[in-house]
Amino acid sequence: MSSKVFEEGSVFYELSKCSHQKVLFCSDEDTGLKAIIAVHDTTLGPALGGTRMWKYRSEAEALKDVLRLSRTMTYKAAISGLNLGGGQAVIIGDSRTDKTEALMRRYGRFIKNLNGSFITAEDLGTSTRDMEYIRMETEYVTGVPVSLGGSGDPSPIAAKGVLMGIKACVKELYGTDTLAGRSVAVQGIGHVGENLVHLLRDENAKVYVSDINEERVAQIAKKYGAQAIANNSIFDLEFDIYAPCALGATVNSETIPKMKCAIIAGSANNQLADEDEHGRLLLEKGILYAPDYLINAGGMINCYSELSGYSKKRTLQLAENIYQATRVVLKKSKEENIPTNKAADMIAEKRISDIKKIKGSY
Ligand code: NAD
Repeated sequence: MSSKVFEEGSVFYELSKCSHQKVLFCSDEDTGLKAIIAVHDTTLGPALGGTRMWKYRSEAEALKDVLRLSRTMTYKAAISGLNLGGGQAVIIGDSRTDKTEALMRRYGRFIKNLNGSFITAEDLGTSTRDMEYIRMETEYVTGVPVSLGGSGDPSPIAAKGVLMGIKACVKELYGTDTLAGRSVAVQGIGHVGENLVHLLRDENAKVYVSDINEERVAQIAKKYGAQAIANNSIFDLEFDIYAPCALGATVNSETIPKMKCAIIAGSANNQLADEDEHGRLLLEKGILYAPDYLINAGGMINCYSELSGYSKKRTLQLAENIYQATRVVLKKSKEENIPTNKAADMIAEKRISDIKKIKGSY
């Protein structure tokens, strides 16, 4: 989309392209804090989103990231049936060298001033310790350690949700959701990836693992009886399911033609490099794609549960609902012959617009 008024690439150009309710720029010279908090939509509830600390190459790049991520959170909450809106924050800086207690607490005070319209959680470059610092200044933070009444590490729940998404896709293609004997390549075996490998092994799936960290590949392969594969050869091999659990944009114009899998279902955010083009290409090629924000919602579900007094049982139940939600998306995609990511967007948008209408009534 181009703008007649704003210069392409400028801050106002980026803002004009989206429909965010609020974007707050936070700066503090004493601590060196430079952060952006984006509240995308609060129709369904307060905007929940992670705080990412990253060495962005430019402020424009940070803005673009926070706008995109916060919008995804709105869709994730909506399709998961959560009473939450979507938000995100980014802190510009090197999390290894620029982060201090004072910086995190100063940032926490900016969140406090938003009076609950934004609630944050851990993300890339931040930790439960950072959430503790934020908690010292405001109650609007989740993902604090279990010892402080928090929900702790969300990755086991995130992995459970991904497993549910995989099962729903397998059911769609093969008529049964059993994973015994199905081959799954898990790319990226960090927090979520390892938990997923564990769950897949318990389902008797044939698991392949790859990562840029070869030492970790060997270790995880041995621990779970999985087969190690070279990261750069993942698309040369044939699997039933490709589970991207590392970085985004691994599904793109270069990789789709090489893919031999029947299903793509993983935890990574923003798996499609271009939502419109690559969603359509997958549909044409007959590869079933489980929309990323739908099946990786376990992390958000974990934080959501923390807000109302954490219960592991209830959280697992909510993560298990991802199975049914995925089935609904796949059905719509099939009936209307539209890409699955498009079907998911439409379902999420409908829930938001329906609730918006009833909020305006007596
Ligand atoms: P992590 O940092 O613990 O693990 C990522 C793994 O990917 C690491 O082992 C890393 O070495 C590997 N990796 C990095 N670049 C790679 C590449 N180019 N090729 C192959 N492997 C590569 O991260 P995580 O918490 O497991 O999250 C994984 C993905 O899932 C991320 O995209 C994250 O945004 C998303 N996600 C995580 C959660 C959660 O609860 N942690 C929830 C929802 C979504």
